[in-house]
Amino acid sequence: MLKENILQRIIQVSIKPVKRRTASIPSIIKDIKSVIKRRDREDYLADIAAILANIMLMGKEKTIKCQYYDITTGLCKLLKFDIQIPTLYTINVDGVWRVRVDKHPEICATCPYWKGKSS
Ligand code: SF4
Repeated sequence: MLKENILQRIIQVSIKPVKRRTASIPSIIKDIKSVIKRRDREDYLADIAAILANIMLMGKEKTIKCQYYDITTGLCKLLKFDIQIPTLYTINVDGVWRVRVDKHPEICATCPYWKGKSS
């Protein structure tokens, strides 16, 4: 009887740390999942940043080669708006708002009016 009690006690003692570690497994899994989600988000943002950088590079290339680009002012001589667009850097020239395409290469990247300079 005494031996049985000692044996039970030994088993209980040796099981305690296992139980403690087992209990923490769900929180460890949760932490791992959160790291994976954050990593996915970072990858996603990095992909978007790379795409935007490519758009800006392509736009810049189109801007400097477009015959409507005024290199002295940075304005597009073709594109104009009747109202000021808050998301664009514009300058009022003779009552219309002209876009500083040197500050917005993304506009040239998607512009349907692009026309190469004649050489
Ligand atoms: S590409 Fe379009 S927005 Fe850019 S300078 Fe030429 S006409 Fe203007």
